[in-house]
Amino acid sequence: MMERKVIFATSNEGKMKEVRAILEDLGMEVLSMKEAGIHVDVVEDGTTFEENAVIKATEIQKVCGEIVLADDSGLEVDYLNKEPGIYSARYMGEDTSYKIKNQNIIDRLDGVEDEKRTARFVCAIAAAFPDGTVEVTRGTIEGRIGYEESGENGFGYDPIFYVPEYGCTTAQLSPEQKNEVSHRGKALRKMKEIMKLKKY
Ligand code: IMP
Repeated sequence: MMERKVIFATSNEGKMKEVRAILEDLGMEVLSMKEAGIHVDVVEDGTTFEENAVIKATEIQKVCGEIVLADDSGLEVDYLNKEPGIYSARYMGEDTSYKIKNQNIIDRLDGVEDEKRTARFVCAIAAAFPDGTVEVTRGTIEGRIGYEESGENGFGYDPIFYVPEYGCTTAQLSPEQKNEVSHRGKALRKMKEIMKLKKY
């Protein structure tokens, strides 16, 4: 029997590595958009992480006919009314470096005490199936905004996302450790369980 395909809607190789590691035991071939030869530009105009993930997954599913997974994620800083939220990638402009974005968030929290520096990474994963059904899961990891960047691993806001439980930022975790505790890892493992039940 031919292996069932799952397309994960990202062009980010780092994300694909995380996703492949988690979905390994599904017995499905996991492909990126590029590997599947799909080139679609989806406008993410939803107002929540969930809406954006569903928009991406369903639009791409219509084009390719396979099972499509899509994620939408971001950083919510409580003191900044949950900014940058769904605008995390676009915060201060898509091409602005994370050195600058991270410093800007640190500056906006200048003088704010520890207890009020709470933040979380959120990830919504949507799966659009060939039978027209759509499933969505959410994963989060709670932390605090640090006072300076620390750590070289990960990407984006990881160097300023301090997790008190681990005593370090998510940029100081190994990729394996981060996969175990991250918003994306949690949301994706929930989705994996749903996919197993669907028996696709
Ligand atoms: P997305 O790829 O459209 O979901 O954009 C998510 C954005 O949120 C990224 O570009 C990062 O700025 C931020 N983000 C999401 N997950 C993480 C993470 O695990 N570490 C650091 N930043 C993240």
